[in-house]
Amino acid sequence: MDEGLVCWKCGATLREVPQPLSRISLCLSCRAELHVCRQCCFYDTHKAESCTEQRADPPKDKQRANFCEYFQPRANAWQAEDNSAADKAKDELQKLFQ
Ligand SMILES: [Zn+2]
Repeated sequence: MDEGLVCWKCGATLREVPQPLSRISLCLSCRAELHVCRQCCFYDTHKAESCTEQRADPPKDKQRANFCEYFQPRANAWQAEDNSAADKAKDELQKLFQ
């Protein structure tokens, strides 16, 4: 089963990165730390502390490697958020020029 994990920061494939991801895992493309909230399936900005895992004690910095024992890599970590944010920014820009 190949879910095709991608880097939360640049979208590069993580196929070459040894699994499971560990605290010292880095994206081979942008060197982003990968054991981070942004890469995790429990990451949700709509929730308190941006974490849907109730038992976890969410780290403050969502972009730095953490020790969270509930970490689960999320397959679409990159697309889910960054694309919609970019689209929104584009919409805002277009409004400005209308
Ligand atoms: Zn990357």
